[in-house]
Amino acid sequence: MFSELLPFLERWFKEAEIKGYGIPSNYGSINSPEFSSHLEQVFVKFAERMKGNYPFHHPDYAGQMLKPPHPVAWLAYSMAMSVNTNNHALDGGPPTSEMEKESVAALATMFGYGKSFLGHLTSGGTVANLEALWVASCIHPGRTIAFSDQAHYTHERMCGVLRIPSAKIKSYPSADESPELFASRLESVLKKSNVGTLVVTMGTTGTGRVEPLHLILPVCKKLGVRVHLDAAYGGFFKLLAQRKEIESQPWNVTNEADSIVIDPHKHGLQPYGCGCVLFKDPAVGSFYKHDSPYTYFSSDELHLGEITLECSRAGAAAAALWFTIEMFGLDYHNSEFVNMLSACRAAALSFGQQINETQSFKLLEQPQTDIVCYFPIASDGETISALSKALFSDLMKRGSKSLFLSLYKVPAASVLTDKNSNDTEITVLRSVFMKPSHKEFVPILMQRLNESLQRVKKESF
Ligand SMILES: *Cc1c(COP(=O)(O)O)cnc(C)c1O
Repeated sequence: MFSELLPFLERWFKEAEIKGYGIPSNYGSINSPEFSSHLEQVFVKFAERMKGNYPFHHPDYAGQMLKPPHPVAWLAYSMAMSVNTNNHALDGGPPTSEMEKESVAALATMFGYGKSFLGHLTSGGTVANLEALWVASCIHPGRTIAFSDQAHYTHERMCGVLRIPSAKIKSYPSADESPELFASRLESVLKKSNVGTLVVTMGTTGTGRVEPLHLILPVCKKLGVRVHLDAAYGGFFKLLAQRKEIESQPWNVTNEADSIVIDPHKHGLQPYGCGCVLFKDPAVGSFYKHDSPYTYFSSDELHLGEITLECSRAGAAAAALWFTIEMFGLDYHNSEFVNMLSACRAAALSFGQQINETQSFKLLEQPQTDIVCYFPIASDGETISALSKALFSDLMKRGSKSLFLSLYKVPAASVLTDKNSNDTEITVLRSVFMKPSHKEFVPILMQRLNESLQRVKKESF
């Protein structure tokens, strides 16, 4: 294997004209047996270390939001990475900067934004949301930023970083609230807390819930409240909504939001390091305005660094996204993105249905995207939490019959109907069906889950 690797490295060094480093001088040349053996040693050590990972690419893994990138994204990423362009400024990589602008425009079009918008890639959803909240605070200085109790924790944290007052609102739907009641509750909270911006999560990290944008927008418009969509996880489900494969009402009005965050490194088939923020009004670019004594010299055209908070960013991330979109398009009629998401959604629905049919598990809520939360039925919260945790660990150590799930803590009231319970939080199970291969895998998954429940009940309950 190492004899195969060496000529490749040698050619790479030569073609890239990398001189002066890479081969420690005491080895003489890349073909010296000493160099080869040293490389092998480090490689073996590295490979051993990497074995500590879970099987993220395999359907056995249905735990956290991890999805293997598409091979075409690997290809473009590694090619661009070897040139190592920096999308901070056109000086650092004109072609990958162009690719970024085109890919971001494709995402903006997917959400229904017009030609004039502002947007760029980021290293992930956290920074993308930070930028959107920062712009929101520039537009409504001193006013509160509100989000639901299901929003990603980053919003509360970033409000702290930005020193903006924040408020949490009980998410909708809940069993005992009509759309009208929700709208009037929302209106009174927004007024009372002097809210300037409301974050709406389109696909919550916990359960994949899509918040009802179509009910929220009219209230916000009436009160002059800005709307930011955190679609970091769920953004690409817009394509399924356009096909009516999921409830489309909230997605039909994404074009009316003031800003949107989407993570191509979640459902967009990209390797990590690819988030995106979009602003409907390009005039917000003025908040980013700055001059740089070091960069922005190569042309008068817009440098991405002029509209980002991050400076250096991997041009390779833009190259990979551009290549993937160029290959598959973002058309809801027919695109690899759609086929892949449809299969994930089908897996979640079929798993949800089978959970409903068992006598031993129950759904936390009906899955709205491809995340399913469920728990083993038991008489009290403490037992539910203990059983969930026992299932989680038991299933992880079954060798080739392992199953990797995740745990999720929820308020006791969302699991138990008994309002007098002493529990405040209950731990439930959570599965993210991010891979098309999960669709065929549901029966096996169900079987392993049931077997594990028998085992843990026999052992300790
Ligand atoms: C994942 C996620 C984030 C954070 O994004 P990163 O890419 O992990 O930084 C924010 N919001 C939601 C809804 C998410 O699912």
